[in-house]
Amino acid sequence: MIKEQIIAIKQELPPEVKLVAVSKFHPEEAIREAYAAGQRAFGENRPQEFAAKVEALKDLDLEWHFIGHLQTNKLKLVLPYAHLVQSVDSQHLLDAIQDWGKANDKVIRVLLELHIGAEETKQGFKEEEVRDILFRAEKYKNIRFCGLMGMASHTDCEEDIRADFARIADFRAYLQDLFPELADFKELSIGMSGDWKIALDYGATIVRIGTAIFGERQY
Ligand SMILES: *Cc1c(COP(=O)(O)O)cnc(C)c1O
Repeated sequence: MIKEQIIAIKQELPPEVKLVAVSKFHPEEAIREAYAAGQRAFGENRPQEFAAKVEALKDLDLEWHFIGHLQTNKLKLVLPYAHLVQSVDSQHLLDAIQDWGKANDKVIRVLLELHIGAEETKQGFKEEEVRDILFRAEKYKNIRFCGLMGMASHTDCEEDIRADFARIADFRAYLQDLFPELADFKELSIGMSGDWKIALDYGATIVRIGTAIFGERQY
């Protein structure tokens, strides 16, 4: 089942688009099954679960993405192991990651999460905030800015989803023009189980897919 889903999705993904399999709430065995189907990149959104899975699966050659809200007192559960922290959503967190990176002599790869959905509650930066951070990018010696992440409005209205994705794609292009010195700033992580095919139309470089691979989550 998991294997078939991964193969089906991979067949439709352009080769340059990375599939991150979102394994949150699913057991270790599900990840092993996905691994057997060739999947290497996995995403988790809770620090404790992230760290536990990293430990339990360290016999496999995996690439871990952190995609959830990260409190600054949980950095040590995530930063030593994350290939990419996709969900940096506040100045406070960014500063804490910089401090941790400096103290541990490590450069942390991050995406800045842009608030694009209609929901008030969704986390993420406003456009002006992202731009202001990147103007000061040099200050963050232990952070590598790799691009943007966003979640479209939670809706069945394709037009609204397209509007959200167009906005983040345009903004990434604007930032790339404004900051040509940020050579690594190229990722656009948009698209989940319900909207990843739409996201491809807007230049997604990473899609984050959980339910369509592993089935419904039992919370
Ligand atoms: C859970 C989650 C996903 C995956 O959602 P699905 O709808 O199950 O594909 C993607 N991105 C983030 C940030 C998530 O928290």
